[in-house]
Amino acid sequence: MIQDISPSIFYNEFKDKEPSKNSRIFCFHKRKILLGQTDRGERLLPTFAVMPKDIIKSNYHYLFCVDETEYFLYLNEETIDLPSFQYESVQILRENIGKELQFVGITAYHLYQWYENNHFCGRCANELSFDSKERMLYCDKCGNMIYPKIAPAIIVGVTNGNKILMTKYAGRAYKKYALIAGFSEIGETLEDTVRREVMEEAGVKVKNITYYKSQPWGFDSNLLVGYYAELDGPDEITMDTEELSYAGWLTKDDVDIVCDGVSLTNEMMYQFFQRNTD
Ligand SMILES: [Zn+2]
Repeated sequence: MIQDISPSIFYNEFKDKEPSKNSRIFCFHKRKILLGQTDRGERLLPTFAVMPKDIIKSNYHYLFCVDETEYFLYLNEETIDLPSFQYESVQILRENIGKELQFVGITAYHLYQWYENNHFCGRCANELSFDSKERMLYCDKCGNMIYPKIAPAIIVGVTNGNKILMTKYAGRAYKKYALIAGFSEIGETLEDTVRREVMEEAGVKVKNITYYKSQPWGFDSNLLVGYYAELDGPDEITMDTEELSYAGWLTKDDVDIVCDGVSLTNEMMYQFFQRNTD
């Protein structure tokens, strides 16, 4: 999955530090990211050494490191003009651009969106300051503290013998098969979310809800939590047509799922069909 960058190790402990010449710099602008390309076509981030020298240090914010490589975020309204680098859609991070760059890129984009959405205090409208001890923004005036937003959401593979409930979203660019999914609501356990989402989207009941794996998904500030659950009762589907364009019970023979090594949904569909071969 996206976070599997082994043998490299991701360290997300917060540090209050300045970039050094080999630090990699994320420069986002709205839904774009500044990337260069090697002669062989590999995407790369600018290092601090090639960044314009007139940028003040307080525009750089430490994000995390992978092994010895430190990653920083450039935060400013101004775009960066660098020879051989250009702003491209962040959708490129969904493509095959190398495992590490894909993971750190999506994770950096998660933090970028959080910083960009939190310039001012929501309680008193004062400008927020950057804390130096932890990844937190605070208000000098009223003491409000704002931490990065992570929204928990479930994905569930509802199984019925050798069949699994697969869906397609309505009105979205993503046209491939998906599983039932949705955000956790206030006051729910994740298992409650599973039961509610399956009922809302497909009109069926589930039992024996078992945890599979989780996955950070920074595009939408999510933590995705994957479950399998068994159908409980009648298998007749009542589809939520606002959310879905398709919902049905499918077997391995109905679809060709290739393991993409990136998404939790894909891995869960793939794993189910591996266990349910003839
Ligand atoms: Zn305030």
